[in-house]
Amino acid sequence: MKWDLHQAIEGCLRHGIGGIAPWRDQLEAAGLDSVARHLRDAGLRVTGLCRGGMFPVGSKAAWQKVIDDNRRAVDEAVALQADCLVLVTGGLPEGSRDLPGARSQVRDGIATLLEYARPAAMPLAIEPLHPMYAADRACINTMAQANDLCDELGDGVGIAVDVYHVWWDPTLEREIARAGRERILAFHLCDWLVPTTHLLLDRGMMGDGVIDIPLIRSWIERAGYAGFYEVEIMSRDNWWARPPDEVLAVIKERMATAV
Ligand code: ZN
Repeated sequence: MKWDLHQAIEGCLRHGIGGIAPWRDQLEAAGLDSVARHLRDAGLRVTGLCRGGMFPVGSKAAWQKVIDDNRRAVDEAVALQADCLVLVTGGLPEGSRDLPGARSQVRDGIATLLEYARPAAMPLAIEPLHPMYAADRACINTMAQANDLCDELGDGVGIAVDVYHVWWDPTLEREIARAGRERILAFHLCDWLVPTTHLLLDRGMMGDGVIDIPLIRSWIERAGYAGFYEVEIMSRDNWWARPPDEVLAVIKERMATAV
């Protein structure tokens, strides 16, 4: 993406887009206070802050660092008046093969963070990631796992549903219904390209891939979700390389024809 966060806010205004979900690295680069002020002046809804999480670690010292950083992420989300803090849970600690251990660290991490996020009234949104990221990004890979965690952890935690990560799951319809309106905190859109040439940075524009987005949307809406649809297209060699105003125009068109 060729824009910084301030330029992206202005771009949203120009294209009549009502909400934005900033990433923390962009936020840091642009400055929290000035972004918060700009967002307020622009009247943009902050649909989520991406991202907290990355809980599994190999040492006590590292654990404390992760918790501290996640608390800062909650503070930033509060400062932006975000609807939720999105959690990418983290994968295996370096050198580890203990996937069940990583998953229990994720549970403990979210439970610990909830003690901080609940009083701040900042919902945490677990984003299950496609299993190809289980080693290095997120060991929570299905809606069922995320729903189980929500059952266990109680109030203050829900789910960010990203079609890119969950479209292949044969239990998706059931698990979206199980999550229901209370638990679905965000809905992320893009498409799965065939072939996909990069594990992270080759997402497709809605309509260019194989995901039946209108079907998944119908399940989300039947569950009662009435929030924003967030377009999230990490695409180093295609969409990020194009003029951002052109990309936003295509997004608006595809929202009408492919979603
Ligand atoms: Zn996402």
